[in-house]
Amino acid sequence: MPSPIGHALAGAAIAWSFGAKSSTDGAGWKLPVACAVCAALPDIDLLYMPTHRTATHSVPVALVLTILAVSVTGWVKPIRDWCRRSFGVESGTLIVGLACGLAWSSHILLDWLGADANPPYGVQAFWPLSDRWFFSGVNIFPGTERRDPLSTRAMLINMRAAVQETVMMGSVAAGAWWFSRRRSRVPTSGQAGRQRPSDAATGKGGTSDRQGRRAAR
Ligand SMILES: [Zn+2]
Repeated sequence: MPSPIGHALAGAAIAWSFGAKSSTDGAGWKLPVACAVCAALPDIDLLYMPTHRTATHSVPVALVLTILAVSVTGWVKPIRDWCRRSFGVESGTLIVGLACGLAWSSHILLDWLGADANPPYGVQAFWPLSDRWFFSGVNIFPGTERRDPLSTRAMLINMRAAVQETVMMGSVAAGAWWFSRRRSRVPTSGQAGRQRPSDAATGKGGTSDRQGRRAAR
């Protein structure tokens, strides 16, 4: 199962895919950080091991949380206004809830794709509808060791996993960041056709010719 590093990078990649600004100024970093936290959060169930990889790793629960997040960020006015002020997303506050919900859901997918050395293998992906454990067996991500984490063996296993995840998910996150940066630089058709007020005020652009002709009359 991936470590919090792999999950957090996946969350940040989702935020940039949803149009979070890539600049480091202003609100540019806030949605990637929020999504990184949401993507790592399902492992909070490690605080109570009997529930690990059950409720917080369930697709139906993730779906309900996503619907709640979209509803709250889109239609509860104080939260919607706060989202609008706080996050660097131009396409609307619904996107904030959707990106956070998908970041949470990405945790389930990554755990399903990762190696698992300890039974029961995988995640209870349809808790509480089914108590079956789902495990892909493809082992894209190496296993981590959470028992006795300060032992040399556990530290070596976790370090190797962290490096591998950083290379894999870091590449995905870097690609999403690059596309987000590129997209934010390309003006939309509306922006391209719209004249800047400062230009109009100083008489630059298409209006200056008309003004000149009027003055000559
Ligand atoms: Zn997990």
